[in-house]
Amino acid sequence: MRIVLLGAPGSGKGTQSGLLVKTYGIPHISTGDLLREAVSKRTDLGLRAKSAMDAGKLVDDATVLGMIRERLSRPDAVNGFILDGFPRNIAQAEALEKMLEELGTPLDTVLLLNLDFGVLFKRLTGRRICETCGRVFNVYAAPGTLLHCDHCGDRARLIQRPDDKEEVIAKRLEVYEAQTKPLIKYYKTVGLLRIVDADADMDTVFANIRRAVQAPAGGSGGAAE
Ligand code: AMP
Repeated sequence: MRIVLLGAPGSGKGTQSGLLVKTYGIPHISTGDLLREAVSKRTDLGLRAKSAMDAGKLVDDATVLGMIRERLSRPDAVNGFILDGFPRNIAQAEALEKMLEELGTPLDTVLLLNLDFGVLFKRLTGRRICETCGRVFNVYAAPGTLLHCDHCGDRARLIQRPDDKEEVIAKRLEVYEAQTKPLIKYYKTVGLLRIVDADADMDTVFANIRRAVQAPAGGSGGAAE
């Protein structure tokens, strides 16, 4: 199964990818995670990408496409993958299509996690991540009780991603609107798009995803465009 997960920052792509990995046994490929790893390891690629990321802008296409090409060529991606945060604009979508065409492995489905902008903003400002295990929490989901990770214990710190600060979030949502949203129409036109209601708890959204994966393509409405 070859899946693209589309959705604005904060729509739950990372969380739902985790559930998809468990269900379908295919790897989760997040360009954001790959870039953050490169930044923390201070590789050349990471150093090139950092300033765009800190500003909430997109990293240049050549860098991201090189990274994706390498990742998709690894053996664990042979039977499928979940792409999260990629493609992010039309040029990346066209490059992906070409790459997969060459491999003879086209996409099976594109799932759009659909959510209101107001909800997205709150989710992003409230997001905290365990420094040790990477588990994601939200201060609004558990107000007052969120002091440490319930998985790693009280020595693990919960941190805020630098690009989850309010001023950067506004930029990221603006970039999504201008550059990534056109992908909704792009994938609708080729009959791959399925729209998933993502304004619910994790398990309900996942049930919506499973229904969408099984539904025939093209059955999605135009409300999210
Ligand atoms: P994410 O974790 O997907 O929200 O990505 C975090 C940041 O990494 C984004 O704000 C961009 O700066 C960068 N990034 C992630 N994926 C891409 C992509 N496909 N193209 C360009 N930049 C990206």
